[in-house]
Amino acid sequence: MAEAFRFRIREHGPAGSPVHEPFTPADPKPGWVRLSLKAMALNRLDLWTTEGIPGFPLPLPLTPGCDGAGVVEAVGEGTALPPGVELGGSAMIAPGLSCSVCPACLRGDDMLCPAYGILGHVCDGTAATHVLVPAANLLPIPGNWSFEQAAAFPLVFLTAWEMLVHKCQLRPGETVLVWGGGSGVGSAAIQLVRALGGSAIAVVGSEAKAMQCWDLGAEHVLVRGDLKSLAGKVRELTGKRGVDVVFEHTGAATWTTSMAACSRGGRIVTCGATTGPETPFNLQALFAKQIQIRGSYMGRREHLWTLLSLIQRNPTNPPFRPVLDQVFALEDYPGAQRHLAAGQGFGKVVCRI
Ligand SMILES: [Zn+2]
Repeated sequence: MAEAFRFRIREHGPAGSPVHEPFTPADPKPGWVRLSLKAMALNRLDLWTTEGIPGFPLPLPLTPGCDGAGVVEAVGEGTALPPGVELGGSAMIAPGLSCSVCPACLRGDDMLCPAYGILGHVCDGTAATHVLVPAANLLPIPGNWSFEQAAAFPLVFLTAWEMLVHKCQLRPGETVLVWGGGSGVGSAAIQLVRALGGSAIAVVGSEAKAMQCWDLGAEHVLVRGDLKSLAGKVRELTGKRGVDVVFEHTGAATWTTSMAACSRGGRIVTCGATTGPETPFNLQALFAKQIQIRGSYMGRREHLWTLLSLIQRNPTNPPFRPVLDQVFALEDYPGAQRHLAAGQGFGKVVCRI
C-alpha cells in the first residue's frame, strides 16, 4: 500500500485547491469495509465542500468525493455483505450515510435521518486510492459496466429518481422541463423521464450540448439564451399550458422562469442552487397557479437497488446509463474539479484510479 494517496481539503478554497498527500488506509471497523477504488466521479458537492458552505462547518481536513467504485479489499470483523458483493469482488458505493437505528432509518427514509450525511462531505470520501464505507452502502456493479460508469451512477440517478418518482409522482404522458440537460443530474433526469413514459424538454447552455440531449431521449431541447423568451417557448411547446413538472437544480438564475413555465397545478422540484440560493418569489403566481414546490436531497438507498434491477432486466440495452464527460487520472483531481466548475462538459466528470 506504499502508493496509497488521497486529496485533502485542509482549508476552504477555490475549485482545484485540494492537495495531494500520501496516507496509510485504516482497517475497517465492524460493519464497515475498505474499498480499493478504481474510479470516482465528481459532483457539484465536491466543489461546495472544497469552497465551504456558509453556516455548515465541515470536519477539516477532509477528503472530498461522494461517488466511487472499486474492489472490496477488507471487511470489518463479523460484517455481512449485501447480495452480489463479496470480498475481493467489485462494488459501487451508495453515497448516503445514516444512523440506521432512528425511526426515519427504520422506515427506509434514510435521507431524512437526523444524522444523514454524504460521503466526502461529512467524512472522508472517494478522491483517494482507498475509502472506508459501511457494508450496507455497497451495491454490485451491473455486469458489463466499467468502474468509471459505476462510479458515475449512484448520486445523480438516485437524486433524479427521488425527485421524479417520489417527490413528483411523475405520470406517463406528463411533460418535464429539465434545466441543465448537460449536467450529471440533468442527463440522468432526461433518461429517467423517458423511461417513465414522460416527455422531457431539456435546457442547455450551448448548441453543442443539444444533440447529446436528443440522443438521451429529450423530446425538445432549448438553448438557454434569454430566459424570458425561453418561458414563452416552453408554453408554445406545451399548447400554452406549461410543463407538469419543473426539474430545478440551478436556483437563483432560473427560478422565476421555472414559475412562469410551470402549468397550473404543476410541480417544481429542486435539489440544488448552482447559481445561488436566494431568489425573488412571486406568491401570487404560486397560489393563483396552484404550483406545488418540493425540496429534495438525495434519496432512499433502497431505490438504488430498484434502479439496479431495472438495468439488470436488460443489461445490453438498459433504459438509462451514466453519461461520461471527461475521464481524468486521480492524480489530476484538482484539474477535474476545475473542469467541472467551468461547466463546459456534458455528463459526469470521472477520475480513473
Ligand atoms: Zn437514522
